Amino acid sequence: MLRPMNPEWREIPWDRALAAASPTVANALEKSLAGGDLGFEEGMTLATVEGNDLLALAKVADELRRRTVGDRITYVVNRNLNFTNICIVGCSFCGFSRGPDSPDAYFHSTDALLAKSLEAVERGATEVCIQGGLPKDLDGYNYVELLRAIKGRLPELHVHAYSPMEITYGIEKTRMPLPEYLLMLKQAGLNSIPGTAAEILDDSVRRSLSPNKLKVRQWIEVIRTAHSLGIPSTSTMMYGHTERPEHWVRHLLLLREIQKETRGFTEFVPLGFIHSQTKLFQIGGARAGHSPDEDLIVHALARVLLHGYIPNIQVSWVKLGYEQSLACLEAGANDFGGTLMEESISKAAGANFGEYVSPGEFRALIRTIGRIPAERSTTYKIRKTFELPDAEEIMPSSRMPMLGATTGHAPVSTTGY
Ligand code: SF4
Repeated sequence: MLRPMNPEWREIPWDRALAAASPTVANALEKSLAGGDLGFEEGMTLATVEGNDLLALAKVADELRRRTVGDRITYVVNRNLNFTNICIVGCSFCGFSRGPDSPDAYFHSTDALLAKSLEAVERGATEVCIQGGLPKDLDGYNYVELLRAIKGRLPELHVHAYSPMEITYGIEKTRMPLPEYLLMLKQAGLNSIPGTAAEILDDSVRRSLSPNKLKVRQWIEVIRTAHSLGIPSTSTMMYGHTERPEHWVRHLLLLREIQKETRGFTEFVPLGFIHSQTKLFQIGGARAGHSPDEDLIVHALARVLLHGYIPNIQVSWVKLGYEQSLACLEAGANDFGGTLMEESISKAAGANFGEYVSPGEFRALIRTIGRIPAERSTTYKIRKTFELPDAEEIMPSSRMPMLGATTGHAPVSTTGY
């Protein structure tokens, strides 16, 4: 099969790809193009495609993307602040967490995080994304104090912080009711939350990956409550470990149900499992991360199943690498995510990407597939569209993807962030 990133692939019209698909795949895709909500069986049909059917899925997903959000590929200029790697939860898929006595354990002070935030703003960031491990002795008010410190100095900076797992930990530590705790965070300046710690929203899969992690019911409760208080969130799914296609479909349909009720998800972000430095992989408990076909299927499937509800599908370039990210941006995704400035979680699990992509580098990458880059805010307001290339769009040739290559899957492995 021709693949995205190949100019010939780009020339195939979606309706021609659809005409070459098998009848059950074509029926499901036609229903989605007509605005219908696909059910579990139709989702399973699409989640297990190959050959011409995979081509049709990717092409129709790309067409749905075009109809929903147009041809711009967006990104946000942000900085990741992973404030501690000390964690008691013990997720088997995580290569990031450390015990408190580990020689490379760290806990950044509020002053250090404020300094990093100030530096980020000086370098053009509009957002900081704050997540970390869960140390045993963490004060549950630490999260709110950090928000107050950052927003006190940088009131315009969007603070995207604290996964449902961290919020659940904060409640446990402070013994406050969930709505009051979230309201306290909001009043201290929390603008949105990452919908991480979702992994696969199925308790049997979660038990095998991470028995100490919050349950599906708790994840949904944090998200629903946040949305009801006007705190939007992203939504995520980790794939490429022990899960099967049926889990992808159920996970996506569950997110769709929540979104129908709350309209609080800004985007969906598939997170490929970065396997190499994780206990889960080392003990033989998982496959070796996500494959290039899985990447295409998951991003395209998300576009189709979430069509009409979640408009933005984001690629995680730290998990996928540049080339596979661009491939997925030709198969239903529309957002390149954030420039990050530093990202230690995926790198700790074995990913080769995850330090910093400059905005100019993002734009140069986007141009390689003939699309228009645009900088956005965290909540997808367009800040600037770059119709024409500019002087900052220069990238060292060694870091550019090989156009037309079909096998350049970035070396990868993962955590749930
Ligand atoms: S994924 Fe998060 S909660 Fe789980 S061990 Fe790693 S840092 Fe801790």
